[in-house]
Amino acid sequence: MIEIIRKAIRKSLGNLFGLVLFQFFGKRLLLSKLDQNKILSIYFHDPSVEVFETLIKWLVKHNFEIVTLKEFQKYYDKKKCKHKRTAFISFDDAWLGNLELLDVLKKYDVSITLFAAPKSIIDGQIWLNFVRRRFMQLSEEMTDGIKVEDIKFLSFSKAFELYEAAKEKGEIQRRIMTKSQLLDFAKFACIGSHTMNHPILTNCKDDIVLNEFNESERILKNWGLTSNESLAYPNGSYNENTVTLIGKTNYKYAFTTKPKFIEFSSQKNNFEIPRICIPDGFGKYENLARMSSVWTKIFKD
Ligand SMILES: [Zn+2]
Repeated sequence: MIEIIRKAIRKSLGNLFGLVLFQFFGKRLLLSKLDQNKILSIYFHDPSVEVFETLIKWLVKHNFEIVTLKEFQKYYDKKKCKHKRTAFISFDDAWLGNLELLDVLKKYDVSITLFAAPKSIIDGQIWLNFVRRRFMQLSEEMTDGIKVEDIKFLSFSKAFELYEAAKEKGEIQRRIMTKSQLLDFAKFACIGSHTMNHPILTNCKDDIVLNEFNESERILKNWGLTSNESLAYPNGSYNENTVTLIGKTNYKYAFTTKPKFIEFSSQKNNFEIPRICIPDGFGKYENLARMSSVWTKIFKD
């Protein structure tokens, strides 16, 4: 109960701040600062229809060209967009709730890109969320010296040892699309890779990182899909080494969670492309303020 009240207060306050930030700064940033040398790049996880449609409506109303992954790549390579206002919209993980958004995509005739991790599609879960939820059920011996907030920092082998043990603790309620749902969804969205297992790449050894890149590409292909030479780093986690490693694969574009507009002139390489996060549970004006990049200039997350 207290948690529900806390969330409601957080949402209302965020929306109020968002309204002020958006009206005074954000709107101007989106409408006058964007030009043919920049792309607005936003991403979602599992938004409600209302959260998603509100932003799409705003972008369509203000004449944004919402591009497919292929169009994005074309503009990115040429370092020039066709229009003054261009938006690239992506989704991570392939949550079941994304299926509810198909009507919005059709209604506004917009295209999105979905970054999927094949193992999560098979299991129906993202390991990190799943281990957190079942952490208390794991044996003391297995979790000795580990706090639930440390899971993100564990080595690949320890993290997946916990994941396998967590899976044993009862039936798994699917939260991620099945393979056949993903194949259906792919008729309305471009697909990209989100690695094979969705590990935190900065905790993994080089051979594992390379395997995550290559295996996901192989499996997607096996399913009749393509990674479109594009990948989004799980949890947005990457470092210089990750960039070097992805440079050795077939991928040509990698997406981060740096909350900025994409400015062609300041892109050092193709493997650190910014994306602004639009969280699932906030109000219209906080989301608009976040989309304009003004929110994260003031608040950390
Ligand atoms: Zn993810």
